[in-house]
Amino acid sequence: MECVFCKIINKEIPSEIIFEDDDLIIFKDANPKAKIHLLVVPKKHIATIDDLEKNDVELIGKLILVAAKTARDLNFYQKGYKLQFNVGRGGGQEVFHIHLHITSN
Ligand code: 5GP
Ligand code: ZN
Repeated sequence: MECVFCKIINKEIPSEIIFEDDDLIIFKDANPKAKIHLLVVPKKHIATIDDLEKNDVELIGKLILVAAKTARDLNFYQKGYKLQFNVGRGGGQEVFHIHLHITSN
């Protein structure tokens, strides 16, 4: 599959991994738009937030909880941080595999 994030998940493309379990991976954005810029990515290939189905609710809930835990563990919480999903080309989405941006300055 020609999906760059699936290739990162399968270790076909290197990345700076911060966290990984059976469901999710967190790695550093290759072109950071803030001092800290991480991407939280489900291992299941889902193209956009608009493609989520009812049975993905647990996975997406976990994705947000793991993002918050990572931010807490790395001490972003004190300064504050942003979580963002870009949805569709018009929404700024370039990689069509769901990912949650964590940014903090
Ligand atoms: P989007 O615009 O789709 O919401 O965000 C895609 C993000 O993925 C961008 O911030 C971009 O810098 C990042 N990105 C694209 N290709 C790669 C890659 O091969 N490795 C890493 N680590 N990040 C990537
Ligand atoms: Zn993918």
